[in-house]
Amino acid sequence: MVVNGLRSDYTSPPAADHRFSDAPSSDHADYWPGLRHRAIGPGSGGGREMPGETSFPFRLPERFANRLRWDNPEDPLVRQFLPIPEESRVVPGFVAEPLAERHFLRAPGLLHKYHGRAMLLLTSGCAVHCRFCFRRHGYPREIPHTLAGWEPACLWLEREASITEIIFSGGDPWILADAFLTALTHRLARIPHLKRLRIHTRMPVVAPERVGEGLITTLTATRLQPLVVIHVNHPDELDPAATLALARLSAAGVSLFSQSVLLRGVNDRVEILEKLYTRLLDSRVVPYYLHLLDPVAGSAHFHIPETEARSLMVALAARLPGYAVPRLAREIPGAPGKVVLAAASPEKIHPGAESPV
Ligand code: SF4
Repeated sequence: MVVNGLRSDYTSPPAADHRFSDAPSSDHADYWPGLRHRAIGPGSGGGREMPGETSFPFRLPERFANRLRWDNPEDPLVRQFLPIPEESRVVPGFVAEPLAERHFLRAPGLLHKYHGRAMLLLTSGCAVHCRFCFRRHGYPREIPHTLAGWEPACLWLEREASITEIIFSGGDPWILADAFLTALTHRLARIPHLKRLRIHTRMPVVAPERVGEGLITTLTATRLQPLVVIHVNHPDELDPAATLALARLSAAGVSLFSQSVLLRGVNDRVEILEKLYTRLLDSRVVPYYLHLLDPVAGSAHFHIPETEARSLMVALAARLPGYAVPRLAREIPGAPGKVVLAAASPEKIHPGAESPV
């Protein structure tokens, strides 16, 4: 069977099982071919110790790794990606699967949690391994890696007329090749009630060269309205190359939003958050969500209490216009929506104010 010029057995990279995919090889035909990881782990010849390395190994693209100040473990970028022994500490309440996502599976790789939207987990691979990733211990189930494998998800979407937005997530969907993304996007565009395509990605920050003509074409070549939500946590992540990648997306008519995680030792000061959201606005990215840490095992050293997070939001709202202040939110395991804890302006930030989104 041929779909939009591609055979239906066209493959995305296989995830061996439901665990976080290790080592997507840079020469795999179905990955974006520009993906190169820096080998600096033990025994790799890089000479660096990775004392906390676990089954969720260190991973960074080569160019991004070269930007980090490795001699300072407290550097906010190093802290996000360098495994440390602290990760093996057992902390009550920090668990392997903090969001209980498997309860929302409707077809292989398809999650339906929120009204009107559904999410496709396109790959368990990612260009980076953030030490606080809530999927670091695995995925709800096996992820399809052929176009035909995604057909049950497409058929479920065809039956669900209430779904108007489809979200590509993972891992990072933009580590996959343009041809696969294009084929799947064209398939989805044939579902009449789908209107918007949202991408959740960290690639414009950690591998900005990914945002080339081919990728922009995959985003803009169908009738689906493209939105991209960038994962970014610290202003230092936004170097000139990342800013240029965001400008390319914006110039192509793509709506840009941000999501960040509030992390101890990374962005837990109002000055840092102010700088982050100002830089994002300068790049035409609308601040969207600032998430409280999901309590995944191995990440407790990043935890910030909710009361402290609310105080930060009050301070931030006093410095920025309302449109520049993201919504502080947290996920509740098993709940059908995020809980927004604070948004927009100081007068709207009340302790205990909650609204599902
Ligand atoms: S970019 Fe997202 S999916 Fe990838 S490791 Fe970080 S938090 Fe997890």
